[in-house]
Amino acid sequence: MTVETDIRQEELGGRPAEACTACGSSNLRFVVEVPNIPAFCNVLLDNIDAAKAVRRGDLRLVYCEECSFLFNAVFDADVLAYSPEYANSLSCSPSFGSFLQEMAERIVRKHDLNEKTVLELGCGDGDFLTRLCTIGDNRGFGFDPSYFGPPVVQAGLGVEFEGRYYTTDEKVRPDLVCSRHVLEHVEEPLEFVRLLADAAAGKAALYIEVPNATYMLEKPAIWDLIYEHPGYFTDRALVMVAEKAGLTVTESSTTFQDQFLYIDAQASGSTGDSHLEQTTSLDRLSELVSSFSDEVEQAVSRWTDKVRQLAAEGKRVVTWGAGSKGVTFLNLVDSSSIDYIVDINPMKNGRYVPGTGQQVVGPNALIEYQPDLVLLMNGVYQREVEDHVRSLGVEAAVEVVD
Ligand SMILES: [Zn+2]
Repeated sequence: MTVETDIRQEELGGRPAEACTACGSSNLRFVVEVPNIPAFCNVLLDNIDAAKAVRRGDLRLVYCEECSFLFNAVFDADVLAYSPEYANSLSCSPSFGSFLQEMAERIVRKHDLNEKTVLELGCGDGDFLTRLCTIGDNRGFGFDPSYFGPPVVQAGLGVEFEGRYYTTDEKVRPDLVCSRHVLEHVEEPLEFVRLLADAAAGKAALYIEVPNATYMLEKPAIWDLIYEHPGYFTDRALVMVAEKAGLTVTESSTTFQDQFLYIDAQASGSTGDSHLEQTTSLDRLSELVSSFSDEVEQAVSRWTDKVRQLAAEGKRVVTWGAGSKGVTFLNLVDSSSIDYIVDINPMKNGRYVPGTGQQVVGPNALIEYQPDLVLLMNGVYQREVEDHVRSLGVEAAVEVVD
């Protein structure tokens, strides 16, 4: 698969009525085209044929010069349909678990959430909401069509889960409205934030967390480009969309080694002051976008060359982490010489990577396979993975793909 960067502004300009899906501006700039990628990179398949036959879509990333939001201008929601198959939880990793715990503790402390009510839209497996309720002895309500656990969990004052979307008819009166890693999945982000603001009913605090597109551009983290994400938020774009929805942003910051971006906001008490000045400037973001498209192309060819070279030398390479980054990496570079991808989540083991068809194996499979190189998709886990690999008696080098 190749990444085409030869389609420029003219082509974008020739398309009918393109407008920013966050702010409505038509002042858009073409960034990069990644054609024919698996529509779902978080759904693993039961066999290699099904893996290679998955539905695909095109990603044409454009940048809004007005608000700094990035989005896929050819995104087609019909290609995606959420179900319990959708497994993007990272909670299996101890590092990720402690990140969630620290963030939940910070939120409970900041908003004095003790014996209060917490509402989460897009609660996934319910882990984060359960932590919030346990820490502050709170009552929780979680909504998510992909939720597959028990309807009630005994934590704090009790947590209730609904395997469906939240609607404006719910009777929850929350003190905190929380939404983590949902906004990048919706086509109309402003409407979704308005729904959060509505749920806050003029009194609740809000916590919104998304992948950090400013980090993606700076790094550049090209493996973060996935079809499942129609939208990519810079800090500036996230604050803009929250303020447009009538919220007062009290803090915007990054977490998880800058890979995630969050805001704390209030549904009430607006002072009329904008938080936008405390975010990355439009000049800086524009510069980053300018270099990003070339860097995508260079990274893809650099890693393709490297993997081919290792194969030619008879070296065995595996990747570690069958999440979206690992799947995107295998699909963008020529990974035909890579047979396995390692993941510590037992639910993923024995399944196959969409698009390219590598088998997911547990770490113990490395004892027999004895790879020469482990390509780690996320540097956050470097120490954890190195320790794990050594504990298996495997001498392979662990190299972070960035
Ligand atoms: Zn915009």
